[in-house]
Amino acid sequence: MFAEVIVDIAHSDVDKIFDYACGEDIVRGMRVAVPFGNGVTTGFVMRIKETTDVPSEKLKRVLRAEENFPSLNDEALMLADVISARYRVPMALTLRLFLPAEMRTGKVSMRYRTVIKLCGEAEIPARAKRQRELYEFMRENGEADSALLRERFGSAVKALMESGVLAAEKRRVFRDPYRGVEGDSTPKKLTPSQQNAVDTVKNTAKTVTLLHGVTGSGKTEVYLTLIADILRSGKTAIFLVPEISLTPQMLSQLRARFGSKAAILHSGLSAGERFDEWMRLREGSARIAVGARSAVFAPVENVGIIVIDEEHDGSYSSESSPRYNTFDVALLRARYNKCKLILGSATPSVETYRRAQEGEFEFVKLPERINARPMPAVRIVDMRREVRKGNATAFSAMLREKLKSCLEKGNQAILFLNRRGYSQTVICRDCGYVATCKNCDVSLTYHSDENVLKCHYCGANYKLPPACPDCGGRHLGYVGTGTQRVVGDLKKLFPSARILRMDVDTTSGKEGHYRILKQFSDHAADILVGTQMVAKGHDFPQVTLVGILDADMSLHFSDYRSGERTFQLITQVAGRSGRAQEAGEVVLQTYSPDNYILRFAAQYDYEGFYEHEISMRAATMFPPFAKIVRVMVTGEDEKETLAALKSVYEKLQVIYAENTEDFLFFNRMHAPVKRIQNKFRYQVLMRLVNGRVLKEIYAVCAEEKHKNVLVYVEENPANLS
Ligand code: ADP
Ligand code: ZN
Repeated sequence: MFAEVIVDIAHSDVDKIFDYACGEDIVRGMRVAVPFGNGVTTGFVMRIKETTDVPSEKLKRVLRAEENFPSLNDEALMLADVISARYRVPMALTLRLFLPAEMRTGKVSMRYRTVIKLCGEAEIPARAKRQRELYEFMRENGEADSALLRERFGSAVKALMESGVLAAEKRRVFRDPYRGVEGDSTPKKLTPSQQNAVDTVKNTAKTVTLLHGVTGSGKTEVYLTLIADILRSGKTAIFLVPEISLTPQMLSQLRARFGSKAAILHSGLSAGERFDEWMRLREGSARIAVGARSAVFAPVENVGIIVIDEEHDGSYSSESSPRYNTFDVALLRARYNKCKLILGSATPSVETYRRAQEGEFEFVKLPERINARPMPAVRIVDMRREVRKGNATAFSAMLREKLKSCLEKGNQAILFLNRRGYSQTVICRDCGYVATCKNCDVSLTYHSDENVLKCHYCGANYKLPPACPDCGGRHLGYVGTGTQRVVGDLKKLFPSARILRMDVDTTSGKEGHYRILKQFSDHAADILVGTQMVAKGHDFPQVTLVGILDADMSLHFSDYRSGERTFQLITQVAGRSGRAQEAGEVVLQTYSPDNYILRFAAQYDYEGFYEHEISMRAATMFPPFAKIVRVMVTGEDEKETLAALKSVYEKLQVIYAENTEDFLFFNRMHAPVKRIQNKFRYQVLMRLVNGRVLKEIYAVCAEEKHKNVLVYVEENPANLS
């Protein structure tokens, strides 16, 4: 027999099949050790075959299997093929997505414990009292943990093993990260809307369903019902959530409902725990894979349903090679398994919503909150007026007042600070004016190193105006406030309030945001102050007030999606308020109170927002009507990097010249941020009418090989800095 092997070296020079001779014990999908060059390396068996073209004197043999089972199944191998071809990355790099990192590095392995079993009868002399006791104990229990027995019966254990009465057996044990987690295990009685959603998903002929449900409408219960159904039919499920929404509540709910059938993969687990959760899925003892983006590669077979919750979330795009899109991979798996794929959100991405509207996806709504609870009323506060009245703090008079009465009633509040785009945009504090690009209709970003305003889409530079071009005001610039300062100011305003801060500084480490969320949900604090992280799907029943301190900050981020992002953020964070008995309120502070995005968000008018947004995208030719493609060229040596850029650019120019009608924009330039971590950054930026030339662009970049320079392609990147 012969094995076709891909060696586990992520380099395009060795990105091809190598043949090795092997025995019957080697099967497709296994990880194997093979002689390679002058040493030994691991590889993946892609196929087993009967013949080879390699002459026998040149042929080497597989040395051994790294595991006694194939770690990659047929589906994984198929997916890897498609992903490698689509994004032009070496096969080895793609195959690694399917394995826990711990397996490849060999740093952790299975954990065992020794069990002692009774396996024979015996006449034990009366004087051997200990042995008799042990024998009786074993007759009662059949088996017991070795360490435990030795502690209790000492050398009697060894004696009975030697006489063949007892025998030791090695048992696999799984590290259980959720031992002791409890929650409500009874399914809720579905509301008519929820039942309708469940039925629609089950009955539709379409693979993908968009579940558009307002915040607090009970989407989770719909997913859990569908998943429970699938498990009953003997199949498996994949449930994807943004990392940040794997909250203590979510985990306990899953554990209570599905017990050890759910394997939960997230960054808070230790290496050993992650490895074990993966193994439980591979072996089939766990049948629901729950996790962030990477769980889309979970080793479950016979998949019956895939759920992507908060489908609009930015974390579903990978930012390292291969730069895959989670939805695309999920769709491949859904087609392979002939199962349904559910996308859920209160604020679907514009692209997804369009596909649902045009009939490509099934579409179902949960238009109301559970128990017809009202959506919290949103009050827009004009911060320009506060400035004029001499209030220089981050809190408007209205927010201060509402905070006071919220705390007096013993309720909780969330204050949200929008740190994305922090102090990058120049804004007029008197009239709310924001500088935008003449060519691209997106806002400009301030670069302090050159003291200019830049457009990230065409590279145009603008001088900083000395005064506001609209009102002549001189209060230009925006000094954002950090969470720390807000907390400091709050303490002065409300000395007795208990305040928690949640941002990148306070959530590092293994426990990270879980600890903070748990404290807040236990009502060990009155106010939670945080960035984007507090906006995601948390369910805190006692929160009756949400304050959005600076709604503008993402509005003017220089990205074509900034309107969409702002709408999503405001809707999500507002949705944290008033989820239980008491009605909730939202105070939204802004320097542009008339902005249409904020108006739609305050009315919870997704359709209104969408209609406006999609017609603007069509008029300005931004996605989904065009594709933004950036080829990044980065390296530590500026000369080498520039040489690489030149070479890539020349090849891309050929594509451009031959297909000019497919391009809306094509140019090379410095990336807006010229250096990151000592690496020079250059880019070729393109806006494409369609994806026709995409394949050729990837091919050009895959061909480009430079010693110390990285060349890669990004599609509709989340960040153009
Ligand atoms: P969403 O994810 O849509 O924002 P959740 O799934 O968090 O909403 O549900 C909101 C709240 O309603 C939760 O506290 C949940 O336990 C509760 N809930 C969901 N479905 C039902 C139901 N059928 N009956 C009663 N309560 C429900
Ligand atoms: Zn521009």
